[in-house]
Amino acid sequence: MLSVTEARERILSVFQTTASETISLIESSGRILAVDIAAANDLPLFNNSAMDGFAIRSVDSSNAAPASPLTLSVVADIPAGSAGAHYDRRTSPAGADAVIPVEHTDFNERSAGQPAPQHVTFTRIVKTGENIRLRGTDLPAGNMVLKKGHFLKPQDLGLLAMLGIANIQVYKKPRIALLSTGDELLKVDEPLTAGKIHDSNSYALAALIESANAEVIYLGIANDTRESVKSLLQKAIAENVDLIVSSAGVSVCAFDFVQDLIESNGSLNFWRVNMRPGKPLAFGEYNGKPFIGLPGNPVSAFVGFEVFVRPVLEKLSGRSDRSKPTVKVRCGEEIESDGRESYLRAKIRNENGIHTATLTGNQGSGNLLSLVQADALLIIPAGVKCVPVGQEVDAILL
Ligand code: AMP
Ligand code: MG
Repeated sequence: MLSVTEARERILSVFQTTASETISLIESSGRILAVDIAAANDLPLFNNSAMDGFAIRSVDSSNAAPASPLTLSVVADIPAGSAGAHYDRRTSPAGADAVIPVEHTDFNERSAGQPAPQHVTFTRIVKTGENIRLRGTDLPAGNMVLKKGHFLKPQDLGLLAMLGIANIQVYKKPRIALLSTGDELLKVDEPLTAGKIHDSNSYALAALIESANAEVIYLGIANDTRESVKSLLQKAIAENVDLIVSSAGVSVCAFDFVQDLIESNGSLNFWRVNMRPGKPLAFGEYNGKPFIGLPGNPVSAFVGFEVFVRPVLEKLSGRSDRSKPTVKVRCGEEIESDGRESYLRAKIRNENGIHTATLTGNQGSGNLLSLVQADALLIIPAGVKCVPVGQEVDAILL
C-alpha cells in the first residue's frame, strides 16, 4: 500500500500555484505575497526625536551638572508633523544632535495649548545622539522586506503601510469544491429519523478550507447513486475550481460506483494509503480537475485534510512555509500502534517545561469528541508498534 509520503508527493505533483492579482492593502491579511517587497525609502525617512523634549547641540551641555545648571533659550517649537525647516540656519534644530526629555528639565509638564517656554534649564550632560532616531536605522532604502511566498500577517500590513504601499500583488485564493456523499446524510437543520445522521463533515471541512485561506464552493450532499454524485461533480467542473474535495463513498463496499464514475470521466491515481485513520483516500482527476475523495468517518476526513489537502492549498496559494509545522513532543504514556502511519489525538500539557502528550481516550475514527478535546495529532511512523513513555514523537498542533 502507498505510504503517506509517496501519496502526498503524487498529489502535490499535479498542482501549480494560482495566478496573481492586485488587491488593496486592507484586504491582504492572510494572503500570500506574489512579489518580493523591498523598501522604496528609508525608515524612518528623516532624523526624528524619540521623546518629547528639547533638541540641543550636545556640546552645549558639556558643563551642565547639578551644581552648575545650564539654561538655554528656546528658539523654536516643533510639534509632531512639522519639520522645523524654516528656522534660521545658525540656530536651526538641524544643528541639534541630541534631545533632552522634558522630564529631565525644569519644564517637565506641558498641558495642551500651553506655549513652549522661552528658556529651559537642566543639570546634566546630554550625549551626542541621545533620543535621536536616525534616518534609515530601522530599515534602509533598498533592503528586502518580505519575500514572494510570504503569508501576510497583521504586523506585515503595518510595515507595508509605513512604506506607503497601498495595493499589493498576491496569489489568487484557491477555489475548492466541496461535497458530501451518503444516503444516510441529512442537513444539519433536518430532524433525524431512523438510520440517518447529520452531515457534519461539510461543516468541519468547509471551515478547514477557509482556515487555509481558500474559497469554498459548497455543492451539497450527493446520494449514493452514480447520477447524484455525477451531477455534483459536473457542478464543480462548471465552477472551474482548482480542486474537488468529497467525503465518504471511498471505502471498499461503497467505492465501486465512485471509482467507475471517476475512471470513465478521468483517471484514478490511488485509492488507499497506509495510514490510520484514513486508509480509504482516493486521488484522481475528473474531467481534468484534480479530485481528492476523503474518507467518510469524521476524524478520518479531518486527518486526511491536514495530511493531504492543506499542503495542496498551501502549494496552490503560493505559500512558501508550512502553516502547521510539526513539533516534537514527549509521550506521557505508552502508545500502541498497528504499524500503519498513525495520527493520534492527544492533549499536550507542560510538564516541567517539556511538552508532554497523553491520548484523548477512544481513538475510533468516528469519535469526533476526542478530536475536539485534543491539542495535537501525534504522528506515529509506519512500522512502529509501540512507543514507550518518554520517547519524543512529531506532532501537528491543532
Ligand atoms: P463511507 O465511506 O461512505 O462508508 O462512510 C464511512 C462512515 O462515515 C459512515 O459511518 C458514514 O455514515 C460516515 N459519514 C459519511 N459521510 C459523513 C458526513 N458527511 N458527516 C458525518 N459522517 C459521515
Ligand atoms: Mg457512504
